[in-house]
Amino acid sequence: MSEMPETFDLVGVGIGPSNLSLAALTSGEPGLSTVFVDHKDRFEWHPGLMLPDAQMQVHFLKDLVTPVDPTNPFSFLAFQVDTKRLYRLLVTGRSKVPRREFEQYCQWAVAGLDNLRFGVRAENVEWDGGSFVVHTSDGLLQARNIVVGTGLAPRLPHSMRGHDPERVFHTDQLLRRPRDFAGKRVAVVGGGQSGAEVVNYLLGGEERRPEQILWGTRRTNLLPLDDSPFVDELYLPDYSHHFYGLPEHEREEIVQRLRLTSDGISIPLLEDLYRRLYDLDLLEGRERSCRILLDHTLEDLEETAEGLVITWRPARGGEPVREAVDVVICATGYEHAMPDLLLGLKDRLAISDGLPVVRPDFSLQWDGPAEHRIFVQNAARREYGVADPNLSLLAWRSAVITNSLLGRRRYDTGSVSTALDWAPPGPQEADDAPAELALNTGR
Ligand SMILES: Cc1cc2nc3c(=O)[nH]c(=O)nc-3n(C[C@H](O)[C@H](O)[C@H](O)COP(=O)(O)OP(=O)(O)OC[C@H]3O[C@@H](n4cnc5c(N)ncnc54)[C@H](O)[C@@H]3O)c2cc1C
Repeated sequence: MSEMPETFDLVGVGIGPSNLSLAALTSGEPGLSTVFVDHKDRFEWHPGLMLPDAQMQVHFLKDLVTPVDPTNPFSFLAFQVDTKRLYRLLVTGRSKVPRREFEQYCQWAVAGLDNLRFGVRAENVEWDGGSFVVHTSDGLLQARNIVVGTGLAPRLPHSMRGHDPERVFHTDQLLRRPRDFAGKRVAVVGGGQSGAEVVNYLLGGEERRPEQILWGTRRTNLLPLDDSPFVDELYLPDYSHHFYGLPEHEREEIVQRLRLTSDGISIPLLEDLYRRLYDLDLLEGRERSCRILLDHTLEDLEETAEGLVITWRPARGGEPVREAVDVVICATGYEHAMPDLLLGLKDRLAISDGLPVVRPDFSLQWDGPAEHRIFVQNAARREYGVADPNLSLLAWRSAVITNSLLGRRRYDTGSVSTALDWAPPGPQEADDAPAELALNTGR
């Protein structure tokens, strides 16, 4: 940090891809003072699930900045050129790079930004009547605006809580400590991308291969991620505008209907997995290395002398399946919740169904002065739909926040070219949008 202002224009909490994108888009803004903090010692991207073969699910051009500003110095292409990899990347023919490379790209961007502080945990935020006060493990930070980008919390089913974390854990914890699966009976709960990645990893190496894997899901099959051409337009700014304007009661139903556009398993992974099972079962003659239980919901877990006995309830009647295993890995996703950090401001926020209400500029509706805003990143799935937790609109969301922060249209965040016609925003959006936002979002 060069100079420390008394009060920052923006203090960001969390340095994951979301706030890193915002840090990159705001870093060159003359006169704008920003600082972002993260409790980790260095940038890491979901280290518990950074499996060697894991691939990104979005194109590498959907990086921190390119979709809104390809001239920004923190683009993925700038990283490629700087590290002298671009020609080889082109030879690979990849459009989606390994997850490890996306992490390396983010670490490279971190090294080039001077407004990031690692090893600092934000504990609470208060409003002192003139500015926000962010209490951190390293003292107080004063801010005219804040942005919370603390990510989502791993979701562990109720029956899976309170057990030995060596034996029952969320995928988020998989690689955080050495684990020995060889010769064990392992249950994997959840039929989405993480579950598939974990099963593929467990089967992949002789030295870690369990004796038996029982992979259960309440889905009707191991369903693919739908990123086909027209469906992919759900991840354009125009669809997000459209979604925001829909009546609230329709939004959740639509999110559920479109779930497989973000939560399905990528086709190359399904192909890998299927071939692997073929080879293991038929060429190596290992009897059913992995049993796959569809249409079953995990119901209970008991610790017995035989091991961990898990009970799965069938979706369409019939007897529950009970099975003893040694380890249970929960690939049960992540959940949106009110960040603890904001509890100190809770009484001042508009809350609906337990969550703060997010306005079109990604700021929370609150009863404080309108020019001081509490922005949130990756916390508006209810308002913005399936694209919100995804990287596709990362740069766009940061651009919307930057425009709102600066009070002018620094970036063009309006309509882009689309093949599909989305209905114009409904009345709710028009009514709720403060005057300056109509300009900022190009509407
Ligand atoms: C394994 C995995 C793979 C994914 N792959 C893709 C993909 O390929 N494509 C895609 O579109 N989406 C993907 N996603 C979804 C999404 O893009 C990521 O979850 C992304 O990391 C979200 O970024 P974020 O910055 O909002 O949150 P996070 O990456 O979770 O970052 C939040 C940061 O906040 C910090 N923090 C939390 N609390 C505090 C505090 N009190 N004080 C200070 N710091 C704090 C944390 O240390 C963390 O660094 C993936 C998700 C997972 C889990």
